[in-house]
Amino acid sequence: MSERSITTAMWRGFRRLCPNCGRGAAFKGYLKVAPVCDHCGEQLGHFRADDGPAWATIFIVAHVIVPVALWIEQGYSPPLLAFVIAMLLATLLMTLAVLPLVKGAFVGLMWALRLRGDERHDQMEEKRRPE
Ligand SMILES: [Zn+2]
Repeated sequence: MSERSITTAMWRGFRRLCPNCGRGAAFKGYLKVAPVCDHCGEQLGHFRADDGPAWATIFIVAHVIVPVALWIEQGYSPPLLAFVIAMLLATLLMTLAVLPLVKGAFVGLMWALRLRGDERHDQMEEKRRPE
């Protein structure tokens, strides 16, 4: 089995490209992973990122929005209602922009780690339990 670079696969995924060839599209829609790469035929549809991309997106967006909100509030003291609406809108737009990129990076990571997509936490617990 050949080595798979995690950073290359995640970078390709982040750009929503196939982690294997970096040319074909890894996504069929906004967040729907393509069943196979349209360039190299690599199987991609079995990867289930579940809550991972959402968690990472919240982490990233919060670390941008909160300092910006504090900086604006401290420096300019804008009218409260307009400020809240603007920050909520900025949070929503940034979340929608970042989520598909982060999901692509997760798909790249799962591809690089050769995950099959059928891993479940309870199955892993059973394997760990002594007979
Ligand atoms: Zn490909």
